[in-house]
Amino acid sequence: MISNFPTPYSDELVYSVIARYAVHHGILSPKYLTQELFDNRNLTPTYDLPSHLDKLASYLPDYYDALRLINQHTLLPIYQPFQPKAVMIYAVQVLQGEQYQSVHTKLGKNASRIKSVNFFRFCPHCWQEQMEQYGEVYWKRSWQITGYEYCTKHASPLFVSSVPCNGLDRKFYVAHLNALKDSSQLKFNPQDLHHHIELAELIDELLTHSTYITVQNFSTLSNAYFNLLKDRDLLSGQKNVNYEKVRQLVVDYWGESFLQYYHLGDLRSENCWLKNICRKHRKAFSYLEHLILIRALVPTCSPIHTYQQYLDMAATAIEEQTIQVNVKPENNQIFSDDQIKWIQLIQELPVKSARQKNGALYARLYRSQKEWLLKINQTAVMAPLSPPKPRIDWNTRDRQFMKQLIKIRDELLEDIDSPQWTKKFLIKQLGHVSLIEKNWHFLPLTKTFLERYAESVDCYQIRRLTRTYIRQQTENKYYPPSVFLRLAGLSPQRLTPEARRFFDNIMGK
Ligand SMILES: [Zn+2]
Repeated sequence: MISNFPTPYSDELVYSVIARYAVHHGILSPKYLTQELFDNRNLTPTYDLPSHLDKLASYLPDYYDALRLINQHTLLPIYQPFQPKAVMIYAVQVLQGEQYQSVHTKLGKNASRIKSVNFFRFCPHCWQEQMEQYGEVYWKRSWQITGYEYCTKHASPLFVSSVPCNGLDRKFYVAHLNALKDSSQLKFNPQDLHHHIELAELIDELLTHSTYITVQNFSTLSNAYFNLLKDRDLLSGQKNVNYEKVRQLVVDYWGESFLQYYHLGDLRSENCWLKNICRKHRKAFSYLEHLILIRALVPTCSPIHTYQQYLDMAATAIEEQTIQVNVKPENNQIFSDDQIKWIQLIQELPVKSARQKNGALYARLYRSQKEWLLKINQTAVMAPLSPPKPRIDWNTRDRQFMKQLIKIRDELLEDIDSPQWTKKFLIKQLGHVSLIEKNWHFLPLTKTFLERYAESVDCYQIRRLTRTYIRQQTENKYYPPSVFLRLAGLSPQRLTPEARRFFDNIMGK
């Protein structure tokens, strides 16, 4: 029975959570560790795409399941939007399960031009914050993604540690401040800095939205790109891509040295990535290739958004073709007027809305042609996906909270009867309790304010004594000490030394 398995921190790799478990329980032997957790002495630690996640989720509170761990604590989400659905279903199964099957090859990671990181990377400023908040540090997943070279929060390039992350020696390496000693900061060509920052932001956005995006198959992808290139006026003739123009756009936008940095600089050879991605897709491309191309094609819009938009259009076009096929009457039957009306309706609306629009028609068909109706409904237009949640701008939020807090405090200063101004009390006044509590680390100003201005027990007791004293004076009475304390809601035993001194003072002792 595993108890006290640590809850993952925000953006923490599953690998790092396991390493912390070992430290918390004083487990030194890697074999013993994997035996205890997974009933397997020979498990190789995988930092990016670990398996056994069903098992691991069972050690965590109920709201954790394998899918949540995959989406928030592994690197699978950077593959999700760019791999056919079938591959992703397989990958998720492997990560949930306990069979040893490498998904890396299936996802094309091993053959990719994009070099994955070999040593764990980190931001020392983030570590400092983690240390202050949690008393320990951990490996964040975004740091280990090629292309995420820069901590946008602290405006500083990441550091590369000397801690290997390929796990060949079957050890889980815990994040530790000692790693600072043998680490070095990433260096870029200064003129490319803004692009590295931009790319890190795009990867953040990708991690947030990737689970909303599904690719049916490679032909949807090919169609999406074809339409995108066509809309950007990058075709010559009806069908051919004006490749030279595309190349120029990419080079103009990102610059050659930036592309070289990621081994994406070859844009001329017949089989280069850029030419292939503009052709019919036969294999998956990496998140970096997609992001870099789409950003250059539509610089004014979020590439994830553009990508999803063109993917949806391509998927709808394929659905429409299916409808055309299904609409043909079987056995040369002729459709009734009602049937034709219904078909027209569901080519424009999802079934539910179509029903709302013409309930009588639906009811007639349901009574007379139920089987046909249910079948044809499967070809209806899909309800649009709910738009991805907007990203919270934490800096703005932080400042807003801070301003509200100053106002709240000013009001409270007038109100001598208010309850103790604990952190919790102040957060409640802001009205976003769980948002704030769950996102402490994004709200440094709010946190500092609360730490500085939350009322200590000393101050609160002194305020209550003052309140009673004022009452005594206005009523022009004198209360003996025991009555005075009772009126103040305090007992002599619970008075803090500081409040005791204050009390003695006003009692004239
Ligand atoms: Zn940082």
